[in-house]
Amino acid sequence: MIIIMLGAQGTGKGTMAGYLVAGLGIPQISTGDIFRANIQNQTELGIEADKYISKGELVPDSITVPMVANRLEEEDCQDGAILDGFPRTIEQAESLKEILAKKDKKVDLVINLTTPREEIIDRMVTRRVCPNCKATFNTKLCPPKVEGICDNCGTALVQRDDDKDPKAIEKRLQIYEEKTMPLVEYYQKEGVLRTEFISTSINRLAKEASEEILAELKK
Ligand code: AMP
Repeated sequence: MIIIMLGAQGTGKGTMAGYLVAGLGIPQISTGDIFRANIQNQTELGIEADKYISKGELVPDSITVPMVANRLEEEDCQDGAILDGFPRTIEQAESLKEILAKKDKKVDLVINLTTPREEIIDRMVTRRVCPNCKATFNTKLCPPKVEGICDNCGTALVQRDDDKDPKAIEKRLQIYEEKTMPLVEYYQKEGVLRTEFISTSINRLAKEASEEILAELKK
């Protein structure tokens, strides 16, 4: 099963993907995490990608698309994957369709998370990530048991560089609205879209929505 997590930054895509991985036993492919690991290890791909990521811009498709295609070839993706952060443009969605068609697969479900803009910015600023196991926490909404320490592996949590810079945050949200939002209509037409409103205002976070989705998928 191929699932795509769609939604602006900070809506809880990574968090929901984590619940779905645990419930479905297929891996999460987060393009942002792959880029950050490459930046941390100063690989050629990481050095190139960082030129765009630090400014809040999209990494070119010539780097991103083959990276995802190669990851989907790996053994653990045989039964599917949860794509988090890809596709981000119509062009990437078309490339994904081709990559999957060659493997006799297709996109089965697109989960579109929507959250009010003010809440999104607040969530990006209060997000903390584990540089080791990539778990995501939030100092307000989902704090770790011990302040600043990852619940899963005990590593010190960090704030992403692009979450520290208000200009990069603004740029990322602008790109999301211009380039990624059209995917909502694209996947609606394909009949695979499911939209979930995630907000503290109605006390509905990624956890509750994930439990419902998992229950339905397992029916
Ligand atoms: P994320 O962790 O999904 O917020 O991604 C962090 C950054 O990585 C983004 O702001 C982009 O610069 C880059 N990135 C992640 N996924 C993609 C993608 N599908 N296409 C292009 N750039 C991406």
